Amino acid sequence: MRLVILGGGESGVGTAILGKKKGYEVFVSDFGKIKGNYKEVLIINGIAWEEEKHTEDLILNADVVMKSPGIPDKSPIVKKLIEKVIPVLSEIEFAAPFTDATIIGITGSNGKTTTTMLTHHLLKSAGLNVGLGGNIGKSFAWQVADNKYDSYVLELSSFQLDGILNFKPHIAIITNISPDHLDRYDYKYENYIDAKFRITMNQTEDDYLIYDADDEAITQWFKTHTTKAKLIPFSLTKTFSEGAYIKNNKMEISINHEEFTMDTEHIALEGKHNMKNAMAATSVAKLMQIRKSTIRESLSNFQGVEHRLEKVLKIQNVQYINDSKATNVNATFFALDSMNTPTVWIVGGVDKGNDYNELMSLVREKVKAIICLGVDNKKIIDVFGNVVDIMIEVSTMNDAVKMAQRLSEKGDTVLLSPACASFDLFENYEDRGKQFKQAVKNL
Ligand code: ADP
Repeated sequence: MRLVILGGGESGVGTAILGKKKGYEVFVSDFGKIKGNYKEVLIINGIAWEEEKHTEDLILNADVVMKSPGIPDKSPIVKKLIEKVIPVLSEIEFAAPFTDATIIGITGSNGKTTTTMLTHHLLKSAGLNVGLGGNIGKSFAWQVADNKYDSYVLELSSFQLDGILNFKPHIAIITNISPDHLDRYDYKYENYIDAKFRITMNQTEDDYLIYDADDEAITQWFKTHTTKAKLIPFSLTKTFSEGAYIKNNKMEISINHEEFTMDTEHIALEGKHNMKNAMAATSVAKLMQIRKSTIRESLSNFQGVEHRLEKVLKIQNVQYINDSKATNVNATFFALDSMNTPTVWIVGGVDKGNDYNELMSLVREKVKAIICLGVDNKKIIDVFGNVVDIMIEVSTMNDAVKMAQRLSEKGDTVLLSPACASFDLFENYEDRGKQFKQAVKNL
């Protein structure tokens, strides 16, 4: 059997290792350059590869193809494969049949990484032999090849889910859905929503789907579709006999006739969105029968993930917060929502078709000054120009932070939550967040 892998990154090389171990004839082809450390792995393992080209003769003779999530279906080589009816799978689809481990799959537009890390933390603290993978860390396929874990918590993008046929997580989470990546879905929101729901398409009556019952796209989907999985909703406003909710500042979870209660003030993560993430992760912990005392302890000591509403420093009683990962309006909505002091807001970058009006009432209520950090800030200025007295444009992070310091007073918060991608001025959101933290430390 010939396995061709498109893309020589983490998931491509991981799949190559697994394929080789399982007796496939493996070929890795990358249209760009393959990183040095990955090349070494391929060479050491005797796996054939090419870079900066796709040689059709070596690709179109595949029995099965694994496509890395970054490569769109529209790319010419993928089109040709589809024409020839050669199965094009994602890494998780290829790898899952080679493990008996329990799989927890987490998707959604925002909150995937936070929920995945928190879920992993809860299970690991309880002593389970649990791996972490998917979009974060080491590739799932690679870990399956090493055969290390009894269960996996996987962060799954819609691109990973596009390439599944039989993949079935025992427990699935959809954190929420808001428009994102529509360029890969023919600019049709419903296609993107359907892609997210593929996470449940192979689930049976023995499996679980945990989802945000406050989310409009999710509740709409349920009006016209069904799943066999047992449903576990979570909500900030509704209550359930089976599900998770917040009532009187308590997180209440009721699953399989068992109750779990915890004061939200003892949960280390802050903000309403994080209460949702905590409800989702705790529901998994309950399904995996983790002891209540362990769940409590883990929720009270999990400090969150870098670049997601990360508290950096307090300087002259001004709190600086790095939310560089907020690359869309929905994420920034929850960041502004969780501010409880006057806020100097650093925003801007590459706009993905944002509707800033969704932020209007929060901005009116909380934002005293806006610092636009992008190449093109026109849209932001047009929307908020009449609402916020002070609006300033800058083009470096250092200037943004210095200006923020000048505009803030004791008791204020300076929040970097860009609502945009970072590629105009930075390498990626990590680079943007790191530059922010460095600039704050230099003050
Ligand atoms: P993802 O992996 O889906 O991008 P992250 O956990 O990295 O999600 O968070 C991305 C951004 O979204 C951060 O700015 C974070 O503060 C915000 N966020 C986290 N959880 C949620 C949620 N449940 N709803 C909305 N925004 C969220």
